Amino acid sequence: MRFSPRLIILARIESGDDYYDLIELPNGKHIPVPIAVKLVGKSKVAKIPLAKRRRDNMFFYCPECGKTSFYKCWEHNSLDERVNEEKERYFLNLIKAGKYSKLRYIVAELEEETEVVIE
Ligand SMILES: [Zn+2]
Repeated sequence: MRFSPRLIILARIESGDDYYDLIELPNGKHIPVPIAVKLVGKSKVAKIPLAKRRRDNMFFYCPECGKTSFYKCWEHNSLDERVNEEKERYFLNLIKAGKYSKLRYIVAELEEETEVVIE
């Protein structure tokens, strides 16, 4: 039996497996799915198309130091609140405009050797 992308996303959100999943914006930036759910609700997040690509240990690539990682390179990325606000506003506007097809839902595949860092 094949499950629709919508059901896969809803199952992840319901089970809490969505913690490391990401929504990719058209500008290549990402919003963590738990934040996206808080902003627009489960049913809207479930309308976002599933990406073929997974978030794995090679997902993020830092152009400055060349590191690939499950997490963004913290050395070369500032944790600027304004950046988050901008991303969230951009995301909200796309959802309001019904432009789900511009977004991608990226499932995280946490490998055993991944060091989990709670932000
Ligand atoms: Zn770096």
